[in-house]
Amino acid sequence: MDPAEPFLPYGRQTITESDIKAVTDVLRSPYLTQGPVVPLFERGVAEKVGCDHAIAVNSATSALHIACLALGLGPGDWLWTSPITFVASANCARYCGANVDFVDIDPSTGLMSVDALEQKLIQAEQTGLLPKVVVPVHLCGSSCSMQQISFLAKRFGFAVIEDASHAVGARYQGEFVGSCTYSQICVFSFHPVKIITCAEGGMATTKDPQLAQHMTDLRSHGITKDDKRFEFPAPGPWSYEQQKLGFNYRMTDLQAALGLSQLQRLDEIVAERQRLFSVYEKLLVDLPLHLLSIPSEVSSSLHLAVIRLLNPDARHHRSVFEGLRTLGIGVQLHYSPVHLQPYYQRLGFQVGDFPVAESYGSNAISLPLYPGLQEADQMRVVRALAQVLSA
Ligand SMILES: *Cc1c(COP(=O)(O)O)cnc(C)c1O
Repeated sequence: MDPAEPFLPYGRQTITESDIKAVTDVLRSPYLTQGPVVPLFERGVAEKVGCDHAIAVNSATSALHIACLALGLGPGDWLWTSPITFVASANCARYCGANVDFVDIDPSTGLMSVDALEQKLIQAEQTGLLPKVVVPVHLCGSSCSMQQISFLAKRFGFAVIEDASHAVGARYQGEFVGSCTYSQICVFSFHPVKIITCAEGGMATTKDPQLAQHMTDLRSHGITKDDKRFEFPAPGPWSYEQQKLGFNYRMTDLQAALGLSQLQRLDEIVAERQRLFSVYEKLLVDLPLHLLSIPSEVSSSLHLAVIRLLNPDARHHRSVFEGLRTLGIGVQLHYSPVHLQPYYQRLGFQVGDFPVAESYGSNAISLPLYPGLQEADQMRVVRALAQVLSA
């Protein structure tokens, strides 16, 4: 690697002077947490995506956990998700004492396959092991086929939590992801590698006021300060009640200020990611690889630019990775199939369970993609790829 050429990560945040001012304004204010900015950020996201309720928490992982609890997921229940996701999409069920199973992916989009889901539901109906919750994951910022999934949800009686950690600012059938037109709850992440950031942070949106209230209670110890909701007569105006077992999953005002400031640029950020992706599409056209395809009813937020090598071959995959890293290109794998993680193998999953996902895991590579990436950087990525692939 030429020392003059910086290492290009696969993703990174962009912070502006107005982001910095928004955070320092909170530092100078009376409240660092539980002040006025969290509700403003919640309102901002709810209005942006067109949903009634938004509940801010300290991570998407926390949002997935309280979403599962609010839907009543517990011991003996099943949650199904995609094996090609971050582990948090599955772990949320384990936190609730529930069981996890996976649905294989569609090889062209990398998203949960609706056909595989339907087949698995038909079988599960016969064995009495239907899922209580299904978590479609909007991989790379591309929405799953939510309308079809919601048909299946009605037919087989399960609830849907969208893991939209990659997909704030994306659209499906013209509506923003997060509107919950086809789901009970939708979850966003604001980790720095995602579309907009709070440093750490997450949000759950829902149209259902009861789910919203339940999640709001769970994010702060299961405590309510609203005396109209008290179970016992209030002994005085100082009172609060703990009515269920919750957590400290609160977002701080510092984080919310950063998120709210970034939210103002969401459309710009997504448009820039889409532009950078289309530059890759042109530059990569002659190389022996595929890009994941984006369904026509989707406008992706392009969280990731994933390429797939032509053949799933673990050794070749590894050598392409190592070659690119040596040339200063910070490629990543999103994701190694979750069911093959040691924790999930100990629960009984094994190689061969989800072959399409496993083949994806041995030929997918995420290229650098973030606002601020220059066309010269993209050309460098493509030259490095060409060099490594012809080696
Ligand atoms: C990042 C991510 C999460 C977890 O987000 P955090 O905010 O870091 O907890 C969950 N699911 C997916 C698909 C993710 O990419």
